[in-house]
Amino acid sequence: MVRSGLTLTAALLLLLAAMALKGALITLPMPPAAATADRFDAHRAAARLARVLGDERAHPVDSAANDAVRGRLIAEMRAAGLEPRVSDDFACNGLARGRAVGCARVRNVVATIGPRQGRHLLLSAHYDGTFAGPGAADAGIGIATLLETANLLRGRELARPVTFLFNEGEEMGLIGARAFLERDPLASRVDSALNFEARGVTGPATMFETSQPNAPAVARFARSVDRPVANSLSTGLYRLIPNSTDVAVFEERDWTILNFAIIANETRYHSAGDDLAALDRRSLQHMGDQALALALDFAERPAPRASGELLYADLLGRQLVTLPLLPGLVLLGLLTTFFFVAAWRRRAIGRPLGAAAIAIFGSGGVAWAGQAILALFRDGDYWRGHPWVAELAVYGSVLTACLLALLVIAPGAGQRRMRTAFWLLFLAGGAAISVLAPGAAIYFLFPPIVAAAGILLGRRWPAAETASAIAAALLLFLSFAPALHLFEELMSSGPLWMFAPIGAVILLPALIELLPLIGRVPRMFVLAGAGDLFLLPWTAVALTPAYSVDRQQLFTIEYVWDSDERTGRWAVNNDGAPVPFAADWTRAELPHSLRKRWAAPAPAIPVDAPVVEVAARRPVEGGRRLTLRLRTNGAESVTLITPPDAALRAAGAPGFVRPFGPGGPDDRYAVRCVGRSCDGAVFDVVIGRADPVEFTVIGTRAGLPEAAAALVAARPALARPQYAPDTTLSVTRVKM
Ligand SMILES: [Zn+2]
Repeated sequence: MVRSGLTLTAALLLLLAAMALKGALITLPMPPAAATADRFDAHRAAARLARVLGDERAHPVDSAANDAVRGRLIAEMRAAGLEPRVSDDFACNGLARGRAVGCARVRNVVATIGPRQGRHLLLSAHYDGTFAGPGAADAGIGIATLLETANLLRGRELARPVTFLFNEGEEMGLIGARAFLERDPLASRVDSALNFEARGVTGPATMFETSQPNAPAVARFARSVDRPVANSLSTGLYRLIPNSTDVAVFEERDWTILNFAIIANETRYHSAGDDLAALDRRSLQHMGDQALALALDFAERPAPRASGELLYADLLGRQLVTLPLLPGLVLLGLLTTFFFVAAWRRRAIGRPLGAAAIAIFGSGGVAWAGQAILALFRDGDYWRGHPWVAELAVYGSVLTACLLALLVIAPGAGQRRMRTAFWLLFLAGGAAISVLAPGAAIYFLFPPIVAAAGILLGRRWPAAETASAIAAALLLFLSFAPALHLFEELMSSGPLWMFAPIGAVILLPALIELLPLIGRVPRMFVLAGAGDLFLLPWTAVALTPAYSVDRQQLFTIEYVWDSDERTGRWAVNNDGAPVPFAADWTRAELPHSLRKRWAAPAPAIPVDAPVVEVAARRPVEGGRRLTLRLRTNGAESVTLITPPDAALRAAGAPGFVRPFGPGGPDDRYAVRCVGRSCDGAVFDVVIGRADPVEFTVIGTRAGLPEAAAALVAARPALARPQYAPDTTLSVTRVKM
């Protein structure tokens, strides 16, 4: 008995360790040890990027700092054997997902190599950054990838032209991509595009988005890339997060498109932490290898004969498994039917199925409870510094829920019934998810095929069922765990409990294989162990520091001057943790953002506010069109915000008036201009309402008044501005 107890303890800890280490299942390529002439070299690429970034200062669109970056980029392109040209447009773009139109003067840098004839392959990355940091990964990784790839392609005999687009203004609304599409004569000659991005500084370069239907893009990817990290579910997941990339603009055209990004360690993204030292060279190598392989495939090989929609997923970043969508869905239906019949015959539909369902959904509840208890005495994103400890607690909670479900809901159900019940539930869940995101189906086919084969063979050789069940559980782990790891990176700000049901899907089949062992250990011992698997890791989370040098707290300080009321306020945008400052700070919503901040009264330090004048008005069908002239008065960016019911239809500079995305019913409308050229710029705004609309005019400039010195000095040591730098804002309102 003692022996069984120890064996079970070891097995459970092993499962937990496997979950903790799952990120290591995908290994990244190392940069070549010695310089090579024909292989992508991340060290050489990073050196090119280092020369482009220079002093690594923030370089937003249409700023002096970005002029300097462009100058060095052009020099670096010439050194790589390219002949760059610069286009120059004052352009605007509306984000398809939200009610925002962004405008800026953008200067795209373009160079083409290869023959004069033929359709162009476009390689694209943006060279502007945010106001908040150097952007060495975002999108420096793209700049490095393009420069090194161009240099390697230049010496080759290409069958068609390859164009490199270093675009400006992506960060402020994909403006350079829009300008290229609308104004650059080359755009009409492009038929395929590769885009390179970052939402973190490390991890694999995942291919997370393609043109639709996806087969032409995925077939090229499958045959040319050595270490694929991609799956057909990711496009669905990508829609869950608010980010978008230049591909949101390119996808309007009938191009074959592949979009790549690194997403791990979001805590450095859009902050001073996104520097060259933090950019993982293996991530750059991974991205570069894929860029070069695909560029060669596009430039030298005929298009694969592939059409329609494919299901695809990588296996451990080594092999891309693909399957046409329709047969995949049919197979999913057949497997579901098979396991329904098997579960019916084995009388597994009742309690065993209930136990499996409670294990999976209940683990979400148990993990939620863990976080709810911690929220009583920890503030903010306390798991940010060491997320793996919190993840351990989540998967400990999963084991707790699964053990309780197995012992309490379906004691004595036996392995054969629990297996059938699990796979039936797995397939039913897979079918339901595939209705929403068909690409998910790829994850629900192969493990149950192995399990089903075991059930069929088991009629003759009983041991075959057990062997297959173990193999199916292992295959499930190997296919789900790396994808779950990327999901954790994508959703790193939580809530943590949402990883639990996926963890339960991975762990439950393993626990079912442990049932004979569990049966040999006294019930009370197992229940106590289940409790420990919850208590111990959550206690560890409670004692773990919230932030680290690498993974710091988001902490942006703002001075907000209300020009109408002549009052000033300090504000702090952070993760909600209390600010370590004296005076009475309260949570408040300020005019410039819907995100709640800490706010406190501040001395009156007048800031010159931008001025918006109506230059012309005229009626248009269904409303009216205002022509506005902007004076920035020194603001680096100006945003005009209206209430959700303002019914704005479109906005932008002449020639670039763009429609607003539908957004949600409660979304405000925002028109933003960024950069030096906003001063004196003219905008049209089309309003679907006859009565006056109140515009809140926000002017921003990086930096704080001198009176903020004490606050800046008192900022916690492991905290830094993210998404925006410390900023001075002015607020005025104008009815138009
Ligand atoms: Zn970016």
